Amino acid sequence: MAAVSTHVWPPIAPSVGSGPPPRLADYEAARAGFRWEDARRELAGLPGHHGLNIADEALDRHVREGRGHRRAILAVGRHGETSGVTYAQLAAHTSRFANVLRGLGVAPGERVFSLMGRQPALFIAALGTLKATSVFCPLFSAFGPEPVRDRLVLGNGRVLVTTPALYRRKVEPVRDQLPELEHVLLVGGDPGSAHSVPGGIDLAEAMDAAGEEFAIPPTDPDTPALLHFTSGTTGRPKGAVHAHEAVVVHRATAQWVLDLGADDVFWCTADPGWVTGMSYGVIAPLTLGATVVTDARDYDALRWYSLLQDQGVTVWYTAPTALRMLMRAGEELPRRYDLSALRHIASVGEPLNPEVVVWGRDVLGLPVHDNWWQTETGAIMVANYRCAEVRPGSMGRPVPGIETAVLERGEDGRAQVGPDGHVRILTEPGLVGELALRRGWPSMFRGYLHDEQRYAASFADGWYLTGDLVRVDGQGYHWFVGRADDVIKSAGHLVGPFEVETALMEHPAVAEAGVIGKPDPVAGEVVKAFVTVRDGFTADEALREELLAFARRRLGAVAPKEVDFDQHLPHTRSGKVMRRLLRARELGLEEGDTSTLEPPA
Ligand code: AMP
Repeated sequence: MAAVSTHVWPPIAPSVGSGPPPRLADYEAARAGFRWEDARRELAGLPGHHGLNIADEALDRHVREGRGHRRAILAVGRHGETSGVTYAQLAAHTSRFANVLRGLGVAPGERVFSLMGRQPALFIAALGTLKATSVFCPLFSAFGPEPVRDRLVLGNGRVLVTTPALYRRKVEPVRDQLPELEHVLLVGGDPGSAHSVPGGIDLAEAMDAAGEEFAIPPTDPDTPALLHFTSGTTGRPKGAVHAHEAVVVHRATAQWVLDLGADDVFWCTADPGWVTGMSYGVIAPLTLGATVVTDARDYDALRWYSLLQDQGVTVWYTAPTALRMLMRAGEELPRRYDLSALRHIASVGEPLNPEVVVWGRDVLGLPVHDNWWQTETGAIMVANYRCAEVRPGSMGRPVPGIETAVLERGEDGRAQVGPDGHVRILTEPGLVGELALRRGWPSMFRGYLHDEQRYAASFADGWYLTGDLVRVDGQGYHWFVGRADDVIKSAGHLVGPFEVETALMEHPAVAEAGVIGKPDPVAGEVVKAFVTVRDGFTADEALREELLAFARRRLGAVAPKEVDFDQHLPHTRSGKVMRRLLRARELGLEEGDTSTLEPPA
């Protein structure tokens, strides 16, 4: 987590400017008496009262209502070339994809995985899968082979959509450990190259052969739609399952928080391999009929400013690490670009330091609107709004329909049910506790795949426990304090220390490993490993380099950036490595003084 600022920044008045009035005009009024039924009524629903399907809301609805000619996707390719896809085209492509799945015998409810960069094919695979009422599970294309393998195994992946290059680098090395993987739908590549991949199918050929009509089957709103893997402190990644009903919150929050409408050109920089990139980079803007920009390349300051200018982006949803990198690129650079189309900037995924909010206002002409949510919540839960004062450093206030509470923590640092069967809510402003959400909102996750116990343990006394520590001020603004557990947020990516430790321990020189997030001014945290070396190996520079490379090959983007040797890792009485103590040592705190890891309220 980025260093905590001691400077108190004055609030920033609503930034309505000369643009259209905010779609959420009055925060308090919208919250008062809000009912999810009202948000549900904004959705079309499947024709004939056949339920609710995300893909129908995102695509077919627009075609039915005469908006098929409008641009759905504006794709920027690797060399800056652009191409557009209309709603009608996307509706047809996704129907073909759904027919391809049916042809392969993929059943409703069965999971379809993707491993792909940001390109229209990802939209087609996601929304086509949802049309077929199968469950879409996107994987981050910067993962190495091990995280890819683990998620495919946990999700019983039988169908994977990927590119030939990603297949070769990330799947082929572990293919013998994926006995359930049967069909590999390949996007791009030379004609005929699919033959060299076991179970390989050229997706373009299969789509050409498939019909362009597909009737979405009746879809109960509770039908599983999306599977997103996330990380905890211990054990393997957890697969959070979301239902089609989540679209109610996707659409509503995109209006309230991102201020999106049909005339917007919207750019969400998150990768669709993570929950933000799927919920707000694909689904939410399409339900509102907006044009979604997608960029095949990763961050580059010049490219990003050019893209904002050249594509006429009006609403931009990005992340603190990216904004901090832009800040570092200097104030002069953005002045060379015409960013006058831009009217709203929002950020999510990791703590947003107040300096960035103010930099946005001073340099880009718009404050950055921080908001908060997590994989399990399915959609934005706490936010700063265009119509309301922004408090730099605060994540804002709960969206209409969401009730939050700050819960007192027990000895293990997490909220607990007392002997009376209830949690204790801290009502006094400024006290630090675990953030909880009153259960039952439409985008709430419906389970952890194959792990009912873990799901049940995420709730107490009618509240969902987020694992985040916050305080709330007298006006209801929420301030992020830290995590109640050991998960790491590096450049906005949630990294489970266990997954990294397990990969390191596969190296013959490693007896034991403890992995922490080390504070970093740009990435928030970087992954750092402490390693105990086995007898017979020398803890030297060569071994350090070897371990870094070993982890990188296996884990990809979530690999540690630093390795230190430590022959005396601290342990709990039950023998687990005490990551908190490693972190305290790294920060130069007194031995055992982990309390100061949290800033004062
Ligand atoms: P994920 O499930 O990968 O989306 O990660 C969710 C976690 O990211 C949350 O539980 C927080 O720890 C962190 N997070 C998300 N948004 C924010 C924010 N605006 N400020 C601070 N932390 C955030």
